[in-house]
Amino acid sequence: KVRVRFAPSPTGPLHIGGVRTALFNYLFAKKHHGDFILRIEDTDQNRFVEGAEQYIIDSLNWCGIPFDEGPSSPTTKGNTLGKYGPYRQSERKHLYKKFAEDLIEQGKAYYAFDTAEKLDFHRKDHESKGKTFIYNWHNRLKLDNSLSLMPEEVQKRIAKGEDYVIRFLTPPDQKLQLKDIIRGDIEIDSNTLDDKVLFKSDGMPTYHLANIVDDHLMEISHVIRGEEWLPSLALHQQLYDAFGWEAPQFAHLPLIMKPVGKGKLSKRDGEKGGFPVFPLSWNDSVGYREAGYFPEAVVNFLALLGWNPGTEQELFTLEELVDSFSLVRVNKSGARFDPDKTKWYNQQYMHQKDDAVLAEQFQIYLAEKGITTKSKDYVQKAVSLVKDRATFVSDFWELGDYFFLAPTEYDEKSIKKQWKDDTKDIMQKLASFIGGIADFSSENIELEVKKWISEKDLSFGKVMPPLRLILVGDMKGPHIFDIMELIGKEESLGRINKAIS
Ligand code: GLU
Repeated sequence: KVRVRFAPSPTGPLHIGGVRTALFNYLFAKKHHGDFILRIEDTDQNRFVEGAEQYIIDSLNWCGIPFDEGPSSPTTKGNTLGKYGPYRQSERKHLYKKFAEDLIEQGKAYYAFDTAEKLDFHRKDHESKGKTFIYNWHNRLKLDNSLSLMPEEVQKRIAKGEDYVIRFLTPPDQKLQLKDIIRGDIEIDSNTLDDKVLFKSDGMPTYHLANIVDDHLMEISHVIRGEEWLPSLALHQQLYDAFGWEAPQFAHLPLIMKPVGKGKLSKRDGEKGGFPVFPLSWNDSVGYREAGYFPEAVVNFLALLGWNPGTEQELFTLEELVDSFSLVRVNKSGARFDPDKTKWYNQQYMHQKDDAVLAEQFQIYLAEKGITTKSKDYVQKAVSLVKDRATFVSDFWELGDYFFLAPTEYDEKSIKKQWKDDTKDIMQKLASFIGGIADFSSENIELEVKKWISEKDLSFGKVMPPLRLILVGDMKGPHIFDIMELIGKEESLGRINKAIS
């Protein structure tokens, strides 16, 4: 059975790269009728950020990619969704030590007592000679570990309360054969690998040990994660072998790159798309949600960051993504983030959205501006007139503020261009004509006004542009008669009279 996990560390807001990892896991799970698991990797207590776990859960829910198993409530310990819990590593603390000790017994791991200063000294000493310090068979004997000590001595030091770690014993001179679904076969020389720390004397496992033990106990079939974890693959494979466990299959997703230049998209690329799904409550930076992105658009553009369907299709519902997704179609090379394309996606979803839904969202926006007098029906009509040109709900304001407020000033340039000597006179006459139109539907106003223009021997250019300027404040906006119908006769006349008074 396919079982995959998203295993974030609760160290801050979820970056868009993290969401993409979650999404690919979700798609793969659902495609194969498997389970999508959320595991909170909170073994590093120093980096723990309060509220980050709830934030991760909220983000997944907002995106519409809920997990099947995971912590069910951040505040209730041990309360889980699924039978492989707990899903928070801090609550599994008691589990890991015996696995590390098991490796020691088998001679595949060992205790080490090196102080941070000592390790630092060796590192610097190597650097000064232009070499990198690797904690492995080359250096082990110079260092302070149990490989050069009698077992009794080791026990004595531990009993005395000396700080220790448990390190993996990397075998020398091995060509490790690794497999990655996306990258194919990889060969690594074991002499380039450090004896990584598996367990610390604070009683906590490191990421590496906890990750392997949990993936095994949770029966994870496929590990899908960011490329930054590829260098850990050799150790992870060796750990599975050391325990005698079958390893899951691995797929390392390409990095998401900055829109321009080199390097991966970072949180600092904020506006350009690096920002999180939404800000953590204590942090007021903007997120995708605040910027006005629809979750469907975020999911759609993220899916195509590193994966391609093999066709020209760009717009996918979540169901379609599940249907078409395959790890084989994930690219090896970094995926360049394109902020314009991201906006394009939002536009596409904007066009598909129901006007009533958009109106509801826009009403919240209007209320924040103190505009609460218009009915839902009115707002919806306004939305339907401007949505073609909008990318975000907030754009409705820029595109259609005149539906809610009469212009208080008029665009200078347009006045110069459109306002002629006879304009005031024409507008006066037009106002009294409009006052007499009984059926104030867009089609009828258009019909009547056009008739009036030709009867009066006027040109369109003399009437329509100034009329738009008066009603809207500048030359923007949809069909002018649609605007008039919506704001109504009284408001239209009011605006004309104000402009010519
Ligand atoms: N806790 C790791 C992270 O924060 C998970 C890496 C993995 O998926 O193995 O990204």
